[in-house]
Amino acid sequence: MIRTVTGDIADIDGPILAHEHLQIDLCCQKGPEVVLGEAEQDDVVNDLSKAMQHGLKAVVDLSVFGSGRNPAGLKKISMQAGLPVVCAAGFYWDPYPQVVFDSSVEVLRDILIRELTAGIEGTDIRGGVIKIGTDRGEIGVAAERVFQAAALASLATGAAVVTHTSAVEQAFWHLDTLRRAGMDPSRILISHMGAAHSVAQLIDVGRGGALMGIDKVGFIARRSNEELADLVHDACDAGLENQIILSSDVARKDRLLRHGGSSYSAVFVDFFPMLRERGVSAQQIEVMMCRNPKRLLNFASNII
Ligand SMILES: [Zn+2]
Repeated sequence: MIRTVTGDIADIDGPILAHEHLQIDLCCQKGPEVVLGEAEQDDVVNDLSKAMQHGLKAVVDLSVFGSGRNPAGLKKISMQAGLPVVCAAGFYWDPYPQVVFDSSVEVLRDILIRELTAGIEGTDIRGGVIKIGTDRGEIGVAAERVFQAAALASLATGAAVVTHTSAVEQAFWHLDTLRRAGMDPSRILISHMGAAHSVAQLIDVGRGGALMGIDKVGFIARRSNEELADLVHDACDAGLENQIILSSDVARKDRLLRHGGSSYSAVFVDFFPMLRERGVSAQQIEVMMCRNPKRLLNFASNII
């Protein structure tokens, strides 16, 4: 079962962008460009429709409490585009919202469970995945509480956990903390692993079976698509294709088609040809785009 903003569905047959933002607001942290609000909803619908022409079958919005999550907006976008959208339960990390500092692990766990099973922010729209993260600073007790709460909410509901890393090395703490709280690494997606220096780092992080996101395709301010394609090729060569997901983490207005960006089509239009050129097979692409994200989004069936 996959939980979308318009209800639960049994299956998604085709490519899924597992790390995106359709609605986000990080203007306070990162400036006015890092906002996709109500004013951008029509552009987002348009850009999703274009990506659907290239095969997109579902998208995951990983905005959370504290970063401009808008479940009602996501539902509207989903219905207008005719595209399943999954939204996230969770707390932003840069900074953590006050509730994280004020609450016990159990209270935070129960907030997450409520977002996954009852609804988010006064709506009946439920989260389909848990999103948490750590900022660039030293990892402290607040992060520890959030990660433990996320693991417990995952165990209680069957939802997967997606983590934001601010540096590749943080992945080890993320995995260790979630595992110590009882999680199976195969239910964890570590984001932003395109920052890895080489495939050796991916092999290290992936040892326990966690999924890893090469999820900033098209965000060339960070790393070029060519560099990311080389990394994905090397990962596939090392047999990691069952643990890689590809996405583009659109979060800035200037990445929308209207402003000349490649938007939610970047993976399909710009990146697939680069992968094929490097010898990544169509079947490997299918595994990374369809099978892996579907496995992530499917609630562990023993629970809800
Ligand atoms: Zn993101």
